Amino acid sequence: MNYGEIITEVFNAVEVENCGGQVSSYIPELAGVNPKHFGVYLTTTDHFEFGIGSCYQKFSIQSVAKVLSLTLAFKMLGEKIWERLGVEPSGTPFNSLVQLETDGGIPRNPFINAGALVICDILVSQLKNPNLDFLQFIRETSDNPTLNYSETMAASEKSVGYRNIALCNFIKSFGNIKNHPGEVLDFYFRLCSIEMTCEELSKTFLYLANGGHRISDNRQVLNASQTKRVNAIMQTCGFYDESGEFTFKVGLPGKSGIGGGIIAIHPGKYSIAVWSPGLNKKGNSCKGIKFLELLTTKTKSSIF
Ligand code: GLU
Repeated sequence: MNYGEIITEVFNAVEVENCGGQVSSYIPELAGVNPKHFGVYLTTTDHFEFGIGSCYQKFSIQSVAKVLSLTLAFKMLGEKIWERLGVEPSGTPFNSLVQLETDGGIPRNPFINAGALVICDILVSQLKNPNLDFLQFIRETSDNPTLNYSETMAASEKSVGYRNIALCNFIKSFGNIKNHPGEVLDFYFRLCSIEMTCEELSKTFLYLANGGHRISDNRQVLNASQTKRVNAIMQTCGFYDESGEFTFKVGLPGKSGIGGGIIAIHPGKYSIAVWSPGLNKKGNSCKGIKFLELLTTKTKSSIF
């Protein structure tokens, strides 16, 4: 398979398309991002890599980081985490409070904000220094000691974080947040502020294509069963209220963020990161989705 040639062809076709996306403006710091950026980076489990466009430019990975927080909580506590949240698509917007009332404070899945906050609470309980220890974990997973939070982005989100503050306090009222909400929220805002390039994103997530093992030295991040489950949740819940359509059109497990980044995994084969900040109405990168749809069609690499 000549991935490089196919990626270049699809990239050039999608780059000139005008899909009318809007850069997310609800976090002030995100609103200033140049909408023209478009980057792609693919890394395969047999050590091929290829990047194009703005693939070496850092961006805010936002909710894509929720896969990494889930990974660490799952690694540390195993199946016990499912006592505090579910694995069903929510069918509601990512930041909705609605279902929590009837569900007694148990979020539907770890990728909506409510679920990610519960995962953050678990990590705040488990880690001695949550910010430092989590950073250490992602640096080890990616074999990249330079990865970091953006304090400016975290502060910017905190300044307008009314809904997440409400969510965290609401879940606390049901007893499903154990720590002080302020501490959990500070960790959550930092988590969302992590910056990576497409190259770094693709390499960091390669463990999910490689049976849970880092590619560089085969060190285990997750066991085989946990890897399968994380990929399954990405497949069913990774794209907000468009997860069904992403499965329909692209056919890979993945996760998007409002910074316009997408990671998609082909278990056994590759991890691919795409970044284009213009979002569609469901909050997913327009060009990112279009690119992946054409790519999996041309390479016949949907998992279905
Ligand atoms: N930090 C954002 C929030 O909590 C993440 C949104 C996203 O990327 O889905 O609203």
